[in-house]
Amino acid sequence: MPGLYTADAGATEWLDSALTDLAEFRSTGRPGWTREVFSESYRESRHWVADKMRAAGLQVHVDDAGNIIGRLPGRNPAAPPLVTGSHTDTVDGGGRFDGVVGVLGGLAAVETLRESGTVLGRDLLVVDFLGEESNPFGLSCLGSRALAGELTPRDLARTDYSDRTLASAFEDFGLDPSDLLGRAAWTGTRRPHAYLELHVEQGPVLEARGTEIGIVTAITGIERLVASFTGTPDHAGTRPMDDRRDAMVAAAEAVLAIRAEGCGAPEHGVATVTRLENASSSPNVVPSLVRLHGEVRSVDESWLTGTRRRLAEEIAARAGQHGVEADLSWTTDNAVVRSAPGVQDLAAAACDAAGVSWLPVPSGATHDAVHMAALAPMGMIFVPSANGKSHCPEEFTATGQIATGVRVLADTLIRLDTHHFPHPPRTH
Ligand SMILES: [Zn+2]
Repeated sequence: MPGLYTADAGATEWLDSALTDLAEFRSTGRPGWTREVFSESYRESRHWVADKMRAAGLQVHVDDAGNIIGRLPGRNPAAPPLVTGSHTDTVDGGGRFDGVVGVLGGLAAVETLRESGTVLGRDLLVVDFLGEESNPFGLSCLGSRALAGELTPRDLARTDYSDRTLASAFEDFGLDPSDLLGRAAWTGTRRPHAYLELHVEQGPVLEARGTEIGIVTAITGIERLVASFTGTPDHAGTRPMDDRRDAMVAAAEAVLAIRAEGCGAPEHGVATVTRLENASSSPNVVPSLVRLHGEVRSVDESWLTGTRRRLAEEIAARAGQHGVEADLSWTTDNAVVRSAPGVQDLAAAACDAAGVSWLPVPSGATHDAVHMAALAPMGMIFVPSANGKSHCPEEFTATGQIATGVRVLADTLIRLDTHHFPHPPRTH
């Protein structure tokens, strides 16, 4: 049986060198460690990932959606498998840990099982999901969406800045887009027993509390807002201040109202304006049409619902004071997805057994786990992020901290192997 570790290099040393080696696959000329989906550096890195899976003793194949899947056979090949994994693509200017920790950590967990002489009853699949991060097509989590059967023909018709469709991006990457709409989905008996993802926190809570592990309670819901403000165009030099219908002023009022709503949120609610567009580029015209893009996030559905109502009233009222009409449209980008209580309990028991400190935490970022939750009871384990930084070159988690996460991941998988879930998984 092959193994990842040697006599003088254990988990932390292996993780250290594997993180360094994978980070070498990056797009030159871009900041940080950039390895975006469909890029040349990403294509090359996938061979490296598959080789690492083989070195861990896994049976490797690339599925119809481009996910790399490594299988550790269990005693009963007919039993629904356990699944762990994450992603190895990055955002532009990203770091070395987001996603990568869950894939390499999954392989390290396989090694941990082997070292302890544990053979699971079920197969364990370690998955490197294709393209988790946001991309120019505006659709994240491509590989996990395909497994959950959530990709649609409309999704594949999405275009990037150069009018290339997502379908042709898949084709150029050597994948048949028609397979993504059917064959790739894990339906019926292909549903896993449970899904557990190790990930960096990407926020400051664990480090600030001096806690080693976060057990995710729920993954945030995201409501996106587009607000259009319509006033009257006038000469900026001659129209008196008390006789204007200035759309920019109404939009500025909305920015502050949205910030105030986020500041007044219960724990972990946030509200952000990400973009303002003025339809006119004239430097001497009172703005008459301004569009605002924003989002609110929380794991509290009732707060999200209340926020939509309160902001609609507040933004319209404030715009009205400036004689401006406000037209708001909301879309739910992600509903709140809760971790399975059974998975959370087993992860907590694994932490307690190892004497590892842990906290229940919500996730303010989305993950492949959101889509895997449609297939199986889902859970996530977080390890601390230095200074809470992520999606930037400064992103950092010490390998010792990751190794602790690997120990908890491995022990939770062992516990999940024999755990009976009382309820069928939630479906979208
Ligand atoms: Zn990630």
